[in-house]
Amino acid sequence: MTTAIRTSTALTVDNVTLTYPDGTGRLTALDRVSLRVTGGTIAAITGPSGSGKSSLLAVAATLIHPDSGHITLETPTGTTDLATVGRREAAALRRSSIGIVFQQSNLIPALTALEQLEVMSHLGQHLHVSTQQRRETRTRAIELLDAVGLADQKSKRPAHLSGGQRQRVNIARALMNNPALLVIDEPTSALDTERGSAIIDLILTIAHDHNTATLLVTHDRTHLHRMDAVYTMTDGHLAQIASATP
Ligand code: ADP
Repeated sequence: MTTAIRTSTALTVDNVTLTYPDGTGRLTALDRVSLRVTGGTIAAITGPSGSGKSSLLAVAATLIHPDSGHITLETPTGTTDLATVGRREAAALRRSSIGIVFQQSNLIPALTALEQLEVMSHLGQHLHVSTQQRRETRTRAIELLDAVGLADQKSKRPAHLSGGQRQRVNIARALMNNPALLVIDEPTSALDTERGSAIIDLILTIAHDHNTATLLVTHDRTHLHRMDAVYTMTDGHLAQIASATP
C-alpha cells in the first residue's frame, strides 16, 4: 500500500479562474488553472505575452483575489487559502511567508544594497527595534548578499549597481524573511546568457536550501531543462509540458 507523503511546504493552485473588467464584459485571464509546487522545487511557467502568466503570479502572491478556486499555501506552521485571505492577513503573509521578485526591481534609490534588505525585516515591526534584533537582521542581510555574490557591493546604491546586480539584490531581499513561497517574474530578461545562468543557479540553490516552493515565469527556454516542472500558459489555460518527477 502506498501512503501519500505530504511535504510540509507546498503551494496548490486548484481550479482558479480570474477575470478582469473589459468594456461591457469580462476578460478571462486565468481559466480553471491548477498546479502544485512543493518545497524545494521550481515550477517554470512559459507562454506568450498576454496569456495570463503575471496574473497567475499575482494571485499566488495574494496581490489579486481570483473569482473562484483555491490557492493553498502549506507551511510547517499552518495552511492558508490565499484566494480568500483578507487584506491585512495577506500583507502579513507577504512579509512573513511570500517572497516576490518582479521585473521592475522596486529598489529604493536612496538605500544601499544592505539597507534594502534590512528595511524588509523591519517592515511591520513596532517602532522600537532592539539592538539585538538589528544585529540579527544585519547578519542575515550580509549572509544573503554574500549568497548572491554581492558581499563586496553591500554599500552601493541601486544607481551604482548593474542590472544583474540589482536583480540579485532583489532576490536576496525577497529571501530576507525566509519565505515558504517565492514568486519570480522573468529573472533573466535583462541579463546576458552567462549572468542569466548564474541567476538560475542561485534560484535553484535557494529553492533547495530553503525548501522554498518557487513559481518562476520565464521566456528564456535555455534553462527549462533544469526546472522540476514546466508549464505553458495559452489564453489563460495552463498545461504541464514537462516534469522531472517520473
Ligand atoms: P502575461 O503575463 O502572460 O503577459 P497577463 O497576466 O499580464 O499576461 O495578462 C493576461 C490578460 O489579462 C491579457 O489579456 C491582459 O491584457 C489582461 N490584463 C492583465 N492585467 C489586467 C488588468 N489589470 N485589467 C484588465 N485586463 C488585464
